[in-house]
Amino acid sequence: MPKKIIEIDLSSSPYNNDMIHNRWHPDIPMVSMVKPGEEFIIETYDWTGGQIKNDDSAADVRDVDLSQVHFLSGPVGVVGAEPGDLLVVDLLDIGAFPSNLWGFNGFFSKKNGGGFLTEHFPLAQKSIWDISGVYTHSRHVPGVRFAGLIHPGLIGCLPSPGLLETWNSREQAIIDTNPTRVPPLANPPYAATAHMGRLTGEAKARAAATGARTVPPREHGGNCDIKDLSRGSKIYFPVYVPGAGLSVGDLHFSQGDGEITFCGAIEMAGWVHMKVELIKGGMAKYGIKNPIFKPSPITPTYNDYLIFEGISVDEQGKQHYLDVHIAYRQACLNAIEYLTKFGYSRAQAYAILGCAPVQGHISGVVDIPNACATLFLPTEIFDFDIRPNANGPIKHITGSVDIPLAQDL
Ligand code: ZN
Repeated sequence: MPKKIIEIDLSSSPYNNDMIHNRWHPDIPMVSMVKPGEEFIIETYDWTGGQIKNDDSAADVRDVDLSQVHFLSGPVGVVGAEPGDLLVVDLLDIGAFPSNLWGFNGFFSKKNGGGFLTEHFPLAQKSIWDISGVYTHSRHVPGVRFAGLIHPGLIGCLPSPGLLETWNSREQAIIDTNPTRVPPLANPPYAATAHMGRLTGEAKARAAATGARTVPPREHGGNCDIKDLSRGSKIYFPVYVPGAGLSVGDLHFSQGDGEITFCGAIEMAGWVHMKVELIKGGMAKYGIKNPIFKPSPITPTYNDYLIFEGISVDEQGKQHYLDVHIAYRQACLNAIEYLTKFGYSRAQAYAILGCAPVQGHISGVVDIPNACATLFLPTEIFDFDIRPNANGPIKHITGSVDIPLAQDL
């Protein structure tokens, strides 16, 4: 049996566990050393460290302290890893704890986090998803059930001091263009809630002052939220510090492309079984700046889709030039509108797009002035036929079940 190198206690705060951290900084000490070729298991909190509960109120999503996220397990040191190497990580398996077979999806309040469609869904809402083996379903979203494509939303290696400085300065520069924006353009370092693993005292205070927030994906990978980076995949990470310093967290049972609801996919606590190897000097050999990966041989097979198109003309009818962000938003809004014809609330439809194995594609970026994005909605996840036909849609979703909502205070 592979050794478990990081254990967590879901009944205790992640701040009490010195094998957890919530900022990126090269000074965070390795919590364990492994050798190339070695297999091991790491346990992780959900990304909020247990702030979201399995209940029927969205007050916890409204009140979440986002300065605390993400709680990551690590960093794990790899013997012999040097800057410039590639760290090869096999995600051999990932699962939820048998004592904790559920996950959550939410929409943040526009005043506390927001999300991709925050102008349309400005209040906090939450759905709970039960995990039954490889499947999931929700008491808040009837008529839909699907197999999980389990993956870490966040995985990567520690940055070098120079790379950390690059991150902090370029992100501060975008914040400075509109410092009072709600939600903010980016998140600067914030020492008050920093958890720097095994650092203490003066060294902790110094690192916490500049430790990068874990929110964006960056050159090291980090919070990429790629659903296809799932159990069974093999990832090649650039190494920036001696020992590499691999950390992982933010496990998702399933997610649609874009993680559009932001809180987020089907978020869960759980464990990751992995193996590491090294390609010495691999960054230069393969010209790698950002991670690359090979997908898993095991993925849910949903082959029939209804595909929604979106173009870069916004909700007010304004023309934008080849803007993929706006085009994907329109594809999502078109899918939501369509699903309401079967009786779903707009919030339920939004949650389905955030949680189910929905594909997002950049379909065209040259046909001026419109970018075209597409959203692939798998038809087989529904208990009923969602394809258009001459008789029109049937309202299959009836009754008063909806996703709990919390008014802003
Ligand atoms: Zn997540």
